[in-house]
Amino acid sequence: MKKIIGLSLLFLLVGASLFAGIDDKKKKKGAKKKPHKTVKVVKPAAKELKKDDSTTIVIKDDVFMDSVDSLLMFPSHDLYGSWDTSLIHPYLFDQHFTSDSSTVYLLDDWSCGFSVPFKGPITSGFGWRRRRPHYGTDINLETGDTVVAAFDGRVRIAKFNKGGYGNVVIIRHNNGLETVYGHLSKLLVEPGTEVTSGTVIGLGGNTGHSYGSHLHFEMRFLGRALDTEDVVDYEKGEVKNSALVLYKEDFADKYDLRAIHAHNSKTSRSHTTSKSAAIAGKSSKGKVVVVKNGDTLGRIAQRNHTTIAAICKKNGIKQTKVLQIGMRLKV
Ligand SMILES: [Zn+2]
Repeated sequence: MKKIIGLSLLFLLVGASLFAGIDDKKKKKGAKKKPHKTVKVVKPAAKELKKDDSTTIVIKDDVFMDSVDSLLMFPSHDLYGSWDTSLIHPYLFDQHFTSDSSTVYLLDDWSCGFSVPFKGPITSGFGWRRRRPHYGTDINLETGDTVVAAFDGRVRIAKFNKGGYGNVVIIRHNNGLETVYGHLSKLLVEPGTEVTSGTVIGLGGNTGHSYGSHLHFEMRFLGRALDTEDVVDYEKGEVKNSALVLYKEDFADKYDLRAIHAHNSKTSRSHTTSKSAAIAGKSSKGKVVVVKNGDTLGRIAQRNHTTIAAICKKNGIKQTKVLQIGMRLKV
């Protein structure tokens, strides 16, 4: 009995000092202030964060925690409440996003700011594509090009994914976002690796469901994807604003690609056909074509009465570029 009381006291002391530490850190980061809360690491091994598919750490309120170092290791732990190095998207959005809006501070005095993961032309954006939602922004690159972390944070996932991402890295950031980097040829980090904005995390490639080397880059908040082009000015290589206000309704309307697609196909079935016919018939300068199955630069050039060299120049690509179905090209 004495031993139990003794242990409890020890835990209380350790707990108290830890939470004092967290609180300081929060203030420093300028995060939302919350009353002290007790936390528990259910499945432990937090100290042994490693490339282990079974490492899942769930942090719950009102229970004691047993590892002093563990919590401080997870960015935005107060927002997510879990750290899963196996599941790509393990979050219950509606349970976590409880208010109408949430502010994400993209640039602050304590961070290394933002870096574009790879500086290359965008070949496909956030939206409906090939009968599927496309939740990322595709950036053209050559296999072997270095890909860097967008913001400071810690790597949560670094593994091969059969679902289409191929070799993928997911980073949880201190600002509350998670970023996803897909189709990599090589992973240069592992779960638990701490990164700052600009840290090299892997080499670009063509793994997973990919037609031609490119980086598939996503930004997610509590598991839900948003359009990175709302956040990043890719031409300038910087974020559009230092803070990002995310509205819960945007995730239900603006960013829910399946819902938008279902709505559009229901309400404007007839319009869509006339609209696409109009686009297809457009022959003005500055036209954009979508690469179809079997397309080559030569065929596209011929079809649009231009040259391969002109297309490459307009799109910043090499003549050897392997085209990707769904890719948008200026002709
Ligand atoms: Zn993509």
